[in-house]
Amino acid sequence: MKNVYCSLFGHNYQVSKDITYYVKEYKCRKCKTEMTIDGNGHFIPLTSKFKEINNVLHRVHKKRLEKSQQFVMLDF
Ligand SMILES: [Zn+2]
Repeated sequence: MKNVYCSLFGHNYQVSKDITYYVKEYKCRKCKTEMTIDGNGHFIPLTSKFKEINNVLHRVHKKRLEKSQQFVMLDF
């Protein structure tokens, strides 16, 4: 869907989902276009393939966070 506002002023992206510290998903508040950042730091359209990749990344990231929290508890 093309949005006149977006083609004139550019998209108004907002973080819609935190995947990892560096990877986030963005959604335009006007036209709902979804974008993400790939492993090379490029701002790219969020296709279903990248949605899948981000889901996996998110799960791995969460597991790592839980693990690091366990290590922190062991330190005490
Ligand atoms: Zn837009």
